[in-house]
Amino acid sequence: MTADCIFCKIAAEEISAKIVYESEDVLAFEDINPEAPVHLLIITKKHIKNIIELADYDSELFHNIGLAIKKLAADYQLDNGFRIVNNCGIAAGQSVNHLHFHLLAGRDLIWPPG
Ligand code: 5GP
Ligand code: ZN
Repeated sequence: MTADCIFCKIAAEEISAKIVYESEDVLAFEDINPEAPVHLLIITKKHIKNIIELADYDSELFHNIGLAIKKLAADYQLDNGFRIVNNCGIAAGQSVNHLHFHLLAGRDLIWPPG
């Protein structure tokens, strides 16, 4: 846990969030400022700054993120499709430095994203 990290605080239940999925090492909750009818954030419970900080031994963790996405797609019946976004670093606009993936759905999603 990193003391001043919002997502660590959500994982530690110090800040409330609408939790929609939880496993041993992965948590998902609704984004506080949704950009689509469905806008979820899938995070690692442990603090990892971003993909660059992933370690070799995190391979299972990445797989478990995939399984979380798969379960959420089924739960939310996203048969029409959805988008997974990871903003990594300043140029991509990463504003929370704790590894997370956006799941966006429920509207037409333009390509390429801005
Ligand atoms: P980033 O810009 O780092 O890719 O995404 C961070 C996301 O976290 C943003 O979409 C923002 O709305 C969301 N967010 C920031 N603070 C909170 C919070 O306290 N609770 C929730 N649920 N989402 C947050
Ligand atoms: Zn954190």
